[in-house]
Amino acid sequence: MDLELAGRRAIVTGAGTGIGKATTQAFAAEGVRVAALDIDEEALSELSAPAGLVTPVPADLSTAQGCADGARVAIEALGGLDILVNNVGAGIVRAFDDIADEDWRRTFDLHFMSYVRITRACLPILRQTPGASIVNNASDLARQPEAMPMDYAASKAAVLAVTKGLARAEGPAIRVNAVAPGPIWTPFWTKPGGFADTLAAGHDREPMVAVEHEMSLRGLPLARLGTPEEVARTVVFLASPAAAFVTGSVWGVDGGSIRSLV
Ligand code: NAD
Repeated sequence: MDLELAGRRAIVTGAGTGIGKATTQAFAAEGVRVAALDIDEEALSELSAPAGLVTPVPADLSTAQGCADGARVAIEALGGLDILVNNVGAGIVRAFDDIADEDWRRTFDLHFMSYVRITRACLPILRQTPGASIVNNASDLARQPEAMPMDYAASKAAVLAVTKGLARAEGPAIRVNAVAPGPIWTPFWTKPGGFADTLAAGHDREPMVAVEHEMSLRGLPLARLGTPEEVARTVVFLASPAAAFVTGSVWGVDGGSIRSLV
């Protein structure tokens, strides 16, 4: 299938590692020029893609200024914009009692307000671009929260609310969709203090054993974690003209974790 993406221009936030990196590389493979925003300059410098297709844009997206500067530099570098992928995130898994007001604020600044702020900065350009689209990266926890992390799940539920609202507000000019990944094997899990370490402490086992134990508890029909590339392929499809009649939708890429009908 020709996704008809060659020559288009995209912003991907949190593009240095994991799902954002895979999405950036999948777009580049389709001939899309990508502005890759991330706080991790080293990760950005290691992004491999065909020459000239990826422009690294270092930015701290947890702040209003970082979002404004990052979006401005990206749009200038691309000379316009067809696609926005809001993907940035950094989960910390804590029990409800351990999440102070400031933690809630930090979680919402990164996972929700960065999506709002980058979108607000990009909308005036996207409104002038035929076939423009936005894809937001939420989580299966937005639709099916676990006991923790509640701040993260709530911020992702807010992302889905804005996805649906924007699809109504900006149609028919701009399509707005979300992906809701299940467990995906990225630095989100593997980094020191990441989800694997948290599970290790919670289940009192070695990290990899704890991850396998957690997977057996969750009982996913596909019985494994996903890969960043599996999410990236869905993001690229949703952003493309191949998904021209898809808007306001939430696509699970979750191994079957969501049990409800909607
Ligand atoms: P990741 O840690 O590999 O990638 C996150 C990226 O965001 C990193 O490159 C990091 O440097 C960047 N980042 C963090 N803080 C930043 C900041 N302040 N400013 C700019 N960049 C910053 O994780 P991932 O798993 O690829 O996560 C990507 C998205 O997918 C997140 O929104 C996450 O919530 C979502 N998600 C992940 C999973 C999973 O199991 N991995 C499941 C559901 C949803």
